[in-house]
Amino acid sequence: MNSPERACQPLSVSRTVETEVLIIGGGATGTGIMRDLALRSIQSHLIDKQDLCAGASGGNHGLLHSGARYVFSDPHSAIECREEADLLKRLAPQCVEETGGLFVAVAGDDEKYAAKFPELCKAAGITCKELTVDEALQLEPHLSGDTIKAFEVPDATVDPFRLALENVNHAHELGGSVYHSHTGVVDFEIENGTIKAAICKNYHSGELLKIVAKQYVNAGGAWAMNIAKMAGCNDVSLLYSKGTLLVTNDRLTKRVINRLRPPADGDILVPGGTVSVLGTTSLRTDTPENSRPTIDEVNKNVAEGSAMIPALSNARYIRAFARVRPLVQEGDDNNDRSVTRSFSLKNHEDQNLSNFCTITGGKLTTFRLMAEKTADLVAQRLGNTNPCLTRVTPMPAGTSCKWTEPGASPKYWYEANNPDDMILCECEMVPQSAIDQIVQCAPGAEKEMTLEAIALRSRAGKGPCQGSFCGIRIGSYLYDRGYYTDQTGLNHMRDFFSERFKGMRTVIWGQQAAQMELAEALHCGLLGLDCLDEDVNAAADNTIAPTSTGKTK
Ligand SMILES: Cc1cc2nc3c(=O)[nH]c(=O)nc-3n(C[C@H](O)[C@H](O)[C@H](O)COP(=O)(O)OP(=O)(O)OC[C@H]3O[C@@H](n4cnc5c(N)ncnc54)[C@H](O)[C@@H]3O)c2cc1C
Repeated sequence: MNSPERACQPLSVSRTVETEVLIIGGGATGTGIMRDLALRSIQSHLIDKQDLCAGASGGNHGLLHSGARYVFSDPHSAIECREEADLLKRLAPQCVEETGGLFVAVAGDDEKYAAKFPELCKAAGITCKELTVDEALQLEPHLSGDTIKAFEVPDATVDPFRLALENVNHAHELGGSVYHSHTGVVDFEIENGTIKAAICKNYHSGELLKIVAKQYVNAGGAWAMNIAKMAGCNDVSLLYSKGTLLVTNDRLTKRVINRLRPPADGDILVPGGTVSVLGTTSLRTDTPENSRPTIDEVNKNVAEGSAMIPALSNARYIRAFARVRPLVQEGDDNNDRSVTRSFSLKNHEDQNLSNFCTITGGKLTTFRLMAEKTADLVAQRLGNTNPCLTRVTPMPAGTSCKWTEPGASPKYWYEANNPDDMILCECEMVPQSAIDQIVQCAPGAEKEMTLEAIALRSRAGKGPCQGSFCGIRIGSYLYDRGYYTDQTGLNHMRDFFSERFKGMRTVIWGQQAAQMELAEALHCGLLGLDCLDEDVNAAADNTIAPTSTGKTK
């Protein structure tokens, strides 16, 4: 018994499941571990207290680092990134867009710093070609006229949602792997240096589930320190650094654009299909839960980014989001930007636990390597000698995973040429057939899917209207199909819109302000979603409250 919660109140478990490995955390790392283990014929259950990519994996730039960003501060990470990016481009091309990238310095940036860049790239084995300013402007016309240096590197972009979905999908296909969404570990049962069971709570049903495994893996990202402490381990020490990013309405550049200066705010612009993502700030915070962007952070990104790409100063921004990076604390370095971006794997044996490990830190780009090292440890502890196969095995493209790809929905819809297949999300052209496929067979589809869960597995809600229309259309469609009944669909709509609103609240100016007004009129004026609970309470009062005459109202 470890958590204080348990000390006061015995937990009453309604179900027990057994497996070889329990993985805690459904980000890129946890899902990567699930696939790696499945390829070694090891069964696992994966849980996430929310859903896939709820943490940093769903809140980053989507930059598949060539490694060039780390050549000054962290050459080891630079090499790791180069190797892993090359592998991912080859083995999971459906998740990657090979955009290429530029590093640019503008007037006022340190020229001596810029001059060292090609040599450092060469030392890390990263291809780097100097361009003239004219050549760079021809490739990327939005670059500032104040550009003084430009280098081309093999940066790319990666769709983290598709990556996580493909990992889970492939693990399911291989057999023996189960994913539980909205299920968080709340306690561990420990006896004689061994975890006997994890007590997990389903936050939708309230059910308590006991998962009995031989090995327990903590892939909780920024929450890893808390989870380790829950198991009585004090050897995970993390710093929390919050990063805020902004999404533009249009794609401003073909390539990833990085500012060639020591890492600072607003110095990366990453294309993501039809949009661009600008980031990021880096602010020390004391909790992984602190992931709301502020107006200050938004303004900082825009001001700094505009020096590199002037069009950013008057672009339309459709949302802002923030996530917390878990930085592995080594020594007492106070500068978050210079703390290692490498990862840490703890086996917790010196904490007197033989079947628990924690993997954290690192990057999306290096998730596969993090998964490999973790699965090596787990396999060795289980006496399984099968080698890691993720280094050589192509990731199969799962049919139901393809809908997160920007621009893919119209392509598939057009190819199928079915006039009865109604478009439900007009910004991103998501048809009803996509929604059908997702609720039937996407990873996590076993239970009733919320609109948020559907949006995570598709492009719905990602366009300029941020779900204002498609939220209503998809909800209504699922009522028509009988998938939603009673008030559940309305609740899902309200939750979906309020999640989208969190992303819009710091970018309400210009056209986005008009968009917000319209959204408010639809959701509050037309549907009355803001009064949903009041209506339900009133209805309940009307049905059951006895009147003075003894009848119910
Ligand atoms: C602002 C920002 C920008 C970034 N940009 C890039 C980039 O462009 N390129 C790049 O390579 N890397 C980038 N990174 C780093 C990258 O996003 C992370 O390293 C990576 O996504 C971490 O994945 P993970 O699976 O380890 O953790 P996460 O994705 O955070 O997953 C942890 C999961 O654990 C779950 N969890 C927590 N507690 C519990 C519990 N008690 N029970 C069950 N589940 C639990 C959470 O819900 C979460 O889903 C960025 C990070 C940030 C914050």
